[in-house]
Amino acid sequence: MISLKILDPDKTLTTLITFLNSLSQGERLGFFVAQNVGVLIGALAFGWLIIAILPGHRIAPKAPPVDRLEVGLAACTVVLNAVITAVGYELYRRGVVTFRIGVDLRSLLDLFVLLVGMDFAMYWLHRSAHIRWLYFIHRPHHRYVKPRPLDLFVLSPLETLSFGGLWLLFLVVTSPSWISVVAYLTLNVFFGVLGHTGVELLPPAWTQKPVLRWFGTSLFHAGHHADEHHNFGFYTVLWDKLFGTYAEHRLVDPVSTGRTNGESVY
Ligand SMILES: [Zn+2]
Ligand SMILES: [Zn+2]
Repeated sequence: MISLKILDPDKTLTTLITFLNSLSQGERLGFFVAQNVGVLIGALAFGWLIIAILPGHRIAPKAPPVDRLEVGLAACTVVLNAVITAVGYELYRRGVVTFRIGVDLRSLLDLFVLLVGMDFAMYWLHRSAHIRWLYFIHRPHHRYVKPRPLDLFVLSPLETLSFGGLWLLFLVVTSPSWISVVAYLTLNVFFGVLGHTGVELLPPAWTQKPVLRWFGTSLFHAGHHADEHHNFGFYTVLWDKLFGTYAEHRLVDPVSTGRTNGESVY
């Protein structure tokens, strides 16, 4: 294996674990809450930036004003994500979750497995949540047909816990490298925010390029909010295409886009 000496994930992981071990349980939970609030703020800032700099790339209607339930559910998700992080730390301390150390070509493979494997697992979790008798778990997220970046965090507590449980289970089973976990979590927020901006990051022609056309775009997830029977995947369109739930959408909103023909740029 070729070893890339650019980063030293061993040190960052050791430093982080030493720091976490020095905290009391309450302090640790406080740290995880602060960390997840940081992720929320970063995600909202990134989403705001994309919307602000790419007004001509709008592919879905603008979201109406934020309501109280939206803010309450997002706050609840942040706290629950902190609890899931604390459980993950505890599993790591007990040796149930392990990370491979080092940056090498296998780290790239780990990242690929995390992205495609979690996309597969979340595809089925998401699709199951649309079954009639389970839909109550997922309904809060679909209150928002015209999504905004905040809606990435607008989930019912049960849904947040089920995604968190799936993630921890995936870590236990795959034991990925630490650097690939950091990269995956960053991409997870990146894709999640993009899917709720209502703005496409890439020019239309780019989204049809050989590799790029397999990624889940903003239009892909906005399409799911507009039409709940299709597009259950998150990072890729692979599983929707394979299991027959993929649909191409041309979302229309002449009012917010200013286009008189009712067609978005896509
Ligand atoms: Zn969504
Ligand atoms: Zn859904």
